[in-house]
Amino acid sequence: MSLYDKTAHELHELLTTKKISAAELTADIFNHVDAVEDKIGAYLTITRDKATAHAKLIDEKISRGEKISALEGIPCAIKDNICTKGIKTTCASKILENFVPPYDATVYKKLSSSILIGKANMDEFAMGSSTENSAYHTTHNPHDLERVPGGSSGGSTAAVAGGEAIFSLGSDTGGSIRQPASFCGVVGFKPTYGRVSRYGLVAFASSLDQIGPITRDVTDCALVLNAICGHDEMDSTSTAAPVPDFTKSLIADVKGLKIGLPKEYFVKGIDPEIETAVRNVAKKYEQLGAEIIELSLPHTEYAIATYYIIAPAEAATNLERYDGVSYGARVDGADVVEMMTNTRTEKFGAEVKRRIMIGNYALSAGYYDAYYLKALKVRTLIQKDFIDAFENVDLILTPTTPNAAFKIGEMTADPLKMYLQDICTVPVNLAGLPGVSIPCGVTKNNLPIGFQLIGKALDEATIIKAAFTYENTL
Ligand code: GLN
Repeated sequence: MSLYDKTAHELHELLTTKKISAAELTADIFNHVDAVEDKIGAYLTITRDKATAHAKLIDEKISRGEKISALEGIPCAIKDNICTKGIKTTCASKILENFVPPYDATVYKKLSSSILIGKANMDEFAMGSSTENSAYHTTHNPHDLERVPGGSSGGSTAAVAGGEAIFSLGSDTGGSIRQPASFCGVVGFKPTYGRVSRYGLVAFASSLDQIGPITRDVTDCALVLNAICGHDEMDSTSTAAPVPDFTKSLIADVKGLKIGLPKEYFVKGIDPEIETAVRNVAKKYEQLGAEIIELSLPHTEYAIATYYIIAPAEAATNLERYDGVSYGARVDGADVVEMMTNTRTEKFGAEVKRRIMIGNYALSAGYYDAYYLKALKVRTLIQKDFIDAFENVDLILTPTTPNAAFKIGEMTADPLKMYLQDICTVPVNLAGLPGVSIPCGVTKNNLPIGFQLIGKALDEATIIKAAFTYENTL
């Protein structure tokens, strides 16, 4: 029996009924990693010894008759911008090549009973949509090795889609969980801003970043959300709002639910195959008793421009700490200024430097009002679009991405084209809302398509319910 392609809830059942052991499960995953990792390249670090020792402890616990929790013993991957004590955390950057965090991110602590298989590849500092901006290697899409898995959580997503982990954690600043999930045919959930602690997540754009699960089905997604959500005194932006048990929302029922279709997301530029697939999802929901309501989010067209001012501005500030002194690599120079210049010149990749330059430009005296301040105002308008829309609907349904997975190298020459990958996902981050990408079929080239469900702030539960309902129809 192969185990690497099962879901966490199936494996939990097998573990608790002693049909398999955690050691067998871990060995099965590593066998599969050994067979496919050369081709997929999901990982930057593989934690085999630690995983094997951990599995043994869990088996001892099970044989003592002790209960194990839902994700205990389940193999997982963690994006390499989430701090893991004693295990390298590089953000796929040369500047953090040898950085070993002295502490755990809160999310990793909360998942400490799951078995860590490794740290997943990503775009450097989570800047990108293809994983091609990793300073180490490009990850390949398990559905078509010539194509990107999406990004920036491309390693986390390819690991789950390619059988190298049962579930994973990614981070999503403008779409980095949902876009790769749609490219790889898995479930990717970005929770409400503040729902999950960012303590120990290496900051890219602090007002947008959020950690979330990448899983094979909606049930696993609910389980991981249960494990990672909640207030954390180490992150003052994490919300004190109570966290519901998301498994209670695993109910196939959308009767009476109002689902909005925003006209701005069904326009030229969206691949017709994607549009058709997503419209079919709407039809399916209608057949199942939901009410589909056409609506407008009028400021959508400004979202990319707004995001690509705010995110780089915050990134420029956050990345100031990589100065050759506080963290990571140092390249010597004649004096301190030259040392810092050499370090940053040599150790940051091209996209990171581009963002730092755009960000500092947008924040500089004389341009601050024209760019940064204006972007903040437009962000408020985008937030208001959603608040108005949610007066009339419970959820909003859109494509996750304008196209299916593209070929490796196809977009690298044109950063602006790459930025347009985020057109359907960034508004959700700007508004701080929860959103998920759920698989809904394949293109004629057999590439996965995903649709996005956006919910009201803190209403992840309704998203889970609608996503579960759709999954059940398949
Ligand atoms: N692709 C977007 C960017 O490059 C989003 C990245 C993310 O969500 N981390 O900024």
